[in-house]
Amino acid sequence: MKTLQKCAIITGGTRGIGLAIAHSLAAEGCNIVITGRNETTNVLPQLTQHGGKVLYVQSDVSHQTDREKLLTQALERFGRVDILVNNAGIAPKERKDILSLTEESFDYVLDVNLKGAFFLSQMVANQMLTQENNTACRIIYISSISAYVSSTNRGEYCISKAALSMVRALFADRLAQDGIRVFEVRPGVIQTDMTSSVSEKYDRLIAEGLSPIKRWGQPEDVAGVVAVLCRGEFDFCTGDIINVDGGYHIRRL
Ligand code: NDP
Repeated sequence: MKTLQKCAIITGGTRGIGLAIAHSLAAEGCNIVITGRNETTNVLPQLTQHGGKVLYVQSDVSHQTDREKLLTQALERFGRVDILVNNAGIAPKERKDILSLTEESFDYVLDVNLKGAFFLSQMVANQMLTQENNTACRIIYISSISAYVSSTNRGEYCISKAALSMVRALFADRLAQDGIRVFEVRPGVIQTDMTSSVSEKYDRLIAEGLSPIKRWGQPEDVAGVVAVLCRGEFDFCTGDIINVDGGYHIRRL
């Protein structure tokens, strides 16, 4: 019997953690759909080296029409969706104390990190439910330690990630009966464009023992975990949170 070639959508797969996830899932034999806000991306040749097919869709996850375009193009190319990795995420343009953060920044961050991920999950879950052989389907959320750590100078980011954690619980609960498994991967401090502007601060904190494992996390640390979760194993697990944070979450004295 021919093995089914899975199709994985990774939002925000043009760089950082999303690109590493695209590599890891392509290496597992998936066909890949990545997204971003720009018209084009130059990462497709490196991704096709794994042997599968790769599609880029310009799609801002916070826009409904772009989410619809993403699913339509993925289905036109691959006919089905087996894996959705909700990775696209943004930090506030400016770090501001919660006593002065603006509604504009609140909406900007939550529209992408929370609303976009929720409604894309809803759309893709409905698609998965129409498919045969959907028992290996997976929906993954890339949240953050900010889901539970207070940073008063970027409260909107923390709120978006805490709420995203509930989105994970809701979809895990709702889709369990249909064989679709849902997980949250919760990275700590990862070396990407998102953290480049605060790299000196984190260099110092890491050296001082911020986490038991005293190094920056790399995008590949997160991607390796996502790849294992998407293999179709762990059938009696859903709704779990996997910390990829060098042990940061451990309470220490
Ligand atoms: P980067 O800023 O390096 O990359 C962000 C990616 O998301 C890019 O591919 C970008 O593509 C895409 N993107 C941004 N906004 C949108 C949008 N509206 N629609 C579609 N794609 C979008 O971020 P990281 O790789 O560091 O972060 C990835 C995820 O991991 C985020 O959800 C982040 O919150 C989370 N995370 C990161 C941590 C870290 O320390 N780096 C720690 C914990 C969690 P383009 O610019 O082409 O649009």
